[in-house]
Amino acid sequence: MFNKRVKVKDLLASEATGQEVIVMGWVRTFRNNQFIALNDGSTNNNLQIVVELGMLDENTLKRITTGASLKVTGEAVPSLGKGQKVEIKAKSLEILGDSDAEKYPLQPKKHSLEFLREIAHLRFRTNTFGAVFRVRHALAFAIHKFYNEKGFVYMHTPIVTASDAEGAGEMFRVTTLPFDNPPRNEDGSINFKEDFFGRSTNLTVSGQLEGELAAMAFSEVYTFGPTFRAENSNTARHLAEFWMIEPEMAFYDLEDNMNLAEEFIKYIIRYAMEHNREDLEFLAQRLAEEEKQLPQDKRSEMGLIEKLEFVINNNFERITYTEAIDILLNSPAYKKKKFQYEVKWGIDMQSEHERYLVEKHFKKPVIVTGYPKEIKAFYMRQNDDGKTVAAMDILAPGIGEIVGGSQREERLEKLTERMKEMHIPVEEMWWYLDTRRFGSVPHAGFGLGFERMVLFVTGMTNIRDVIAFPRTPKNAEF
Ligand code: ATP
Ligand code: MN
Repeated sequence: MFNKRVKVKDLLASEATGQEVIVMGWVRTFRNNQFIALNDGSTNNNLQIVVELGMLDENTLKRITTGASLKVTGEAVPSLGKGQKVEIKAKSLEILGDSDAEKYPLQPKKHSLEFLREIAHLRFRTNTFGAVFRVRHALAFAIHKFYNEKGFVYMHTPIVTASDAEGAGEMFRVTTLPFDNPPRNEDGSINFKEDFFGRSTNLTVSGQLEGELAAMAFSEVYTFGPTFRAENSNTARHLAEFWMIEPEMAFYDLEDNMNLAEEFIKYIIRYAMEHNREDLEFLAQRLAEEEKQLPQDKRSEMGLIEKLEFVINNNFERITYTEAIDILLNSPAYKKKKFQYEVKWGIDMQSEHERYLVEKHFKKPVIVTGYPKEIKAFYMRQNDDGKTVAAMDILAPGIGEIVGGSQREERLEKLTERMKEMHIPVEEMWWYLDTRRFGSVPHAGFGLGFERMVLFVTGMTNIRDVIAFPRTPKNAEF
């Protein structure tokens, strides 16, 4: 019975010939005891249901409140109202679930994003979050489509691991040991031999190392899964739990890697532009209105759609880290002491530096290569200069770093030497090093932070608004 339901999106796109249909959804508004705006999440557009005067008793009319769920049977007829072609002339109406108007927190008015974060369980029912999460879905689907078309194998790498892929030590421990009285070694340290896995384990920060193992057999693989970082950075671009896409390719050098990343980003944006035009137009409108509140110099030069089109149609700028530092040192911003953090060769560029490069200097996405080895992970391929590694980061306007990648060090001696320098436990990583012992090949890969990509495409400004239930320091509600 329920699956005879017609989706609002399909109905709005169809011809209204007086055919009888069943629709279900949630009430957005109810005007004049006559016009119901019904939404079922298939589109941001509401379906207008017209209830003839006298058709429903007083009590039922009172129960048609914002948030209530309805089943309506009626005729699809051409609409006289503005903005829609089709409406439903109700024949019968059933209230599936009441929604107490006094208590329902979502009223048909503008709510702040901060407020909506507190009711994240309900915010899907707003226009903004409806659009954001349909776009998020489209991007996720496009990602699989892109790699599938290229013949990559989708790997599911473990969530619980014993290795720290980034060597950054920002991991959540996974344990079943009692925290009030854990078993101890003679020297007082915790005895992880008694832990569930017989060793100390944590949530993964990246699937890359396991991805590399698979790439050494399938040539081209990718992962798309959750990753976890216990970094205490309470910024608009960091989550403690986020999703990452990590392709890993044998027989790729750094340039192949950059080419793939650029093609990939353009492909998924194009997919969303083609399949979620309405949602993106809604989000563009939202952004334009929001930016009206900002001083002129803080507003974006391009609208959202324009920006996305620009990114699809132009090459990303490619520069070396050394060139990037020179640009910063010669910038008016540097000369006027506008940067809060120091600029000199060797620094890990801060967000203000990255944003200067993409937003002020180049005004487009920028790929930076050849970072100092001191600020990058142990597995990146060492360049002949002895100072830099074959890393590449992609920086996006409004976001900063969106991709981090590199050609990997395939030479066993160079790799172990670097691991020792960086105090990475070489013995524990025997399985990783085996790939360099048996049929090692040049290979490369990168990680794209999915939420940062969703931010970029939706024009939202806080990463907490593009993942359903954000996990951030001091927050794991829902
Ligand atoms: P950042 O300097 O911005 O913290 P990172 O250098 O730690 O990034 P990588 O380790 O290279 O990032 O991770 C690959 C990608 O994952 C990044 O380019 C970014 O898009 C995304 N990413 C990293 N950390 C986070 C986070 N805490 N929340 C959301 N996305 C993240
Ligand atoms: Mn980080």
